[in-house]
Amino acid sequence: MPNAIVIGAGIGGIATALRLKKIGYEVTVLEANSYPGGKLHTKDVNGYRFDLGPSLFTMPHLVDELFQLFEVEPQSFFQYSKKNVICNYFWEDGTTFSANGNSDVFIKEAAKTFGESETHLKDYITGNAKKYDLTAALFLEKSLHKVNTYLSSDTVKAILQIGKLDVDTTLNTINEKTFQSRKLVQLFNRFATYNGSSPYQTPGIMSMIPHLEMHYGTFFPKGGMVQISKSLYELAVRQGVIFKFNERVQHIKVEDKKAVGAVSDKRDYMADITVSNMDIFPTYKNLLQDQPHPTKVLEQERSSSALIFYWGISREFPELDLHNILFSENYKEEFSAIFNDRTIYNDPTIYINITSKEEHGDAPAGHENWFVMINVPGNYGQDWEQLKTAAREWIISKINSVLGVDLEGLITTEHILDPIGIERDTSSYRGALYGAASNSKFAAFLRHPNFSNSIKNLYFCGGSVHPGGGIPLCLLSAKIVGDLVPKF
Ligand code: FAD
Repeated sequence: MPNAIVIGAGIGGIATALRLKKIGYEVTVLEANSYPGGKLHTKDVNGYRFDLGPSLFTMPHLVDELFQLFEVEPQSFFQYSKKNVICNYFWEDGTTFSANGNSDVFIKEAAKTFGESETHLKDYITGNAKKYDLTAALFLEKSLHKVNTYLSSDTVKAILQIGKLDVDTTLNTINEKTFQSRKLVQLFNRFATYNGSSPYQTPGIMSMIPHLEMHYGTFFPKGGMVQISKSLYELAVRQGVIFKFNERVQHIKVEDKKAVGAVSDKRDYMADITVSNMDIFPTYKNLLQDQPHPTKVLEQERSSSALIFYWGISREFPELDLHNILFSENYKEEFSAIFNDRTIYNDPTIYINITSKEEHGDAPAGHENWFVMINVPGNYGQDWEQLKTAAREWIISKINSVLGVDLEGLITTEHILDPIGIERDTSSYRGALYGAASNSKFAAFLRHPNFSNSIKNLYFCGGSVHPGGGIPLCLLSAKIVGDLVPKF
């Protein structure tokens, strides 16, 4: 039986291990941490449970698909429920908007709250769906780096319609052209952060992202986001995938331009194919030091990172839901601070995720578990202690003013994660959440392919390679690797 080594048990690594197992490989996953999931991990702090990384779950069918591959009923391992409310939005002037998961309701309510025409909203949403339908097969489901991809009818269709995809303009320009309400523009601009980019730089084609939320819906996994990685890990173990934890890979073995295995801090492994789920930057810099490096790809601008305060809160807030956003007064300056000045803006947009709204056991009775996140630049050697202290004050003061509370007195526990911590825990270069940023129209083509051009039998999956970051795309990267590897 052919055998495979997968380096890293992030969501992309686990999904790849499952795909390879299904097509007949013996699979060993080598993971530096003591647990599976990478960024999808959890932490208990004084009676509160927190998901440490991702909080928004879309396209759950991509998870279900992995169970179905093995004829296992997904529900027996992994359950989730659809959210009626996608997100509650708040502005400093007292405007609030609860985004409904049903697009007809969303359109009606958004038109009323923001004074826009229902037709504009409907056309925008339908246009986004069209962009997605035209490009998903090309940009998300196949390798962009194989000639076959360009010979398919899907690709030809997408190329013929390129003018309608808004690749030559920015997301903000498209949104400003479409809507009069600055608040609605801001609401739709926020989707650029779903891949760690700036709406003032990312191409207009990214307006397809809201379609994913509106069409597929948003979901909450029973037991929290960590159940995504935990249940897939359990499935993989059941199918005979071997996981070795606390084992850091130091080198990918290459002989005659072929990957033949990996060397960890514990032992040597021989393998027919090797897959790196580690961030592409340290994969080359640390594991492939002697090999040629794709300099252009590695020099790409990184996505934004995050500063997260995990707070136990000694009160309940009925006005908040699972996902909540308190918007900055000046979005343009906020993104300029992040991407141009590499600092934190003094009025940051605040995201509050509260899983105890769905999973009551995640906080003591009458309390809530707040995951309070702001977008920040990656780690370029800034003084993070000073930035964290300042940001904490700005965040608390904004929450106090928008929600009319004295938050400091309600915080019972605190845990903090910054870009340095994200890099330390997952080897994500500069603590980027989504690998490279999509701040240019060429970004999709500059992402590293899911295979090596110069080293045979070497493959790549996860958020720093094609098709990109975020749980759904990492799962799709695993699918593409499964399609590319040799079949025996
Ligand atoms: P990673 O999770 O990056 O894991 C890589 C694994 O490789 C790690 O376990 C690491 O220990 C291991 N590894 C690295 N080097 C070695 C080595 N040398 N040897 C052995 N093992 C090694 N996505 C969403 O879809 N929705 C969200 O709401 C969302 N929010 C996010 C919020 C935060 C704070 C963060 C950090 C990320 C968020 N994301 C979100 C992005 C999402 O988490 C990632 O895109 C995805 O989890 C990345 O998975 P991955 O497969 O690339 O592996």
